Amino acid sequence: MGKSKVYFTDRQARPDYNMIDKLEHVFKELSLDKEIKSGEKIMIKTHFGQWGNTNYLRPAYARKIVDLVRAVGGEPFVAETTGLGYGGDGTYGGRTTAPEYLGMGALHGYTDATVGAPIIMADGYWGTDVYDIEVDGEHVKTVDVAAALLDCDKVIVLTHAKGHGLGGIGGTIKNLGIGLVGKRGKAAMHFLGDIKIDPEKCLGPECSKCLKVCPVRCITMNEKAEVDESRCIACHHCVSICATVEAKAATQTWRPNHEQGSIFVENTVGVINAIGADKFYYINLAIDISDKCDCWNVGAPLLVHDIGIFGSRDPLAIDQATLQAIKDAPANPDSPVGEIECGACKFAMVHACKDPETGEILELAERQLAHAEKMGLGNREYELATITKDPPKKPGGAEE
Ligand code: SF4
Ligand code: SF4
Repeated sequence: MGKSKVYFTDRQARPDYNMIDKLEHVFKELSLDKEIKSGEKIMIKTHFGQWGNTNYLRPAYARKIVDLVRAVGGEPFVAETTGLGYGGDGTYGGRTTAPEYLGMGALHGYTDATVGAPIIMADGYWGTDVYDIEVDGEHVKTVDVAAALLDCDKVIVLTHAKGHGLGGIGGTIKNLGIGLVGKRGKAAMHFLGDIKIDPEKCLGPECSKCLKVCPVRCITMNEKAEVDESRCIACHHCVSICATVEAKAATQTWRPNHEQGSIFVENTVGVINAIGADKFYYINLAIDISDKCDCWNVGAPLLVHDIGIFGSRDPLAIDQATLQAIKDAPANPDSPVGEIECGACKFAMVHACKDPETGEILELAERQLAHAEKMGLGNREYELATITKDPPKKPGGAEE
């Protein structure tokens, strides 16, 4: 297999070629202006960020993509999927149901009016509006792909590239493998599918809170709550709500941290296979790069300076190129990676996830991308095509 092409434009913005102009340049290098046909339904998949996170992607980038799609005759919409857990997050709500997360998105500037297109939750109200797609993964055999994907002609995956505590890097693969699956797919990353309700601890009919939040209605109440395991999707809602009443009767086992990046990857295989790799276009904005995913309620310190924008048709090559650029960048001395040398993995240092057997600190990002290669998601070998615009001309034609 030859190298995959990854387009790159750096962070150096100027008034006649700012980051929005650069995004348009990447859009054109990906030939989206030629390949989008009139009337095609174009999903723009992004992430709106958790309340309290201030590193998330500004909606202006989604707006620009919407305008570019519409200019060539496409019918754009912006999509996200519901998050895990249940019960919101204080005054400003959570991301668990469609209305919660749409409200959350509005707080971060993501509304139909600001992005210029409809915003949808691609996996429905509860995160259960999905299609099952089979994959031959080591951990995952069925991926619950967000139903809205199935009706798309093309998908532009607009990703904020940053760290992720369980996958190392939260890039394109994470945006697909967690961001375009339903609740079960997200829960499968964090947990093993073994919901248990301890009758000794359950508070019984006077509580019944788990019955209300179970999206598939598989909990019944006699004297104590009981789960029909054959229908449970292991979504974690009952565990979350039970923790709020402090009974902690409903429990579920966490998956070992170092395994979780592999779930991103295997889910991503299902997402891409659902409509075919030829429908996907990838853009990573490597800006505001902390070690944490935007689902954290904090804008954690930035580990490096902004890098720029990457574009590719290969979901693995784009994440590999982005990771390498972050490794190569000098560390922010005020960040948790301090004076770490160029070339070392900042994410590994901060995440400090240890191999349970050897105690060695694992480069989770490398593990994620190696598994992606093994699963045939793409190519780790890439050719970086740096794109730029000619410097502005001075009056009379002299270069500045
Ligand atoms: S939320 Fe917990 S304590 Fe309440 S009924 Fe359900 S399992 Fe029992
Ligand atoms: S019983 Fe299963 S499906 Fe229902 S809320 Fe609990 S984890 Fe989710």
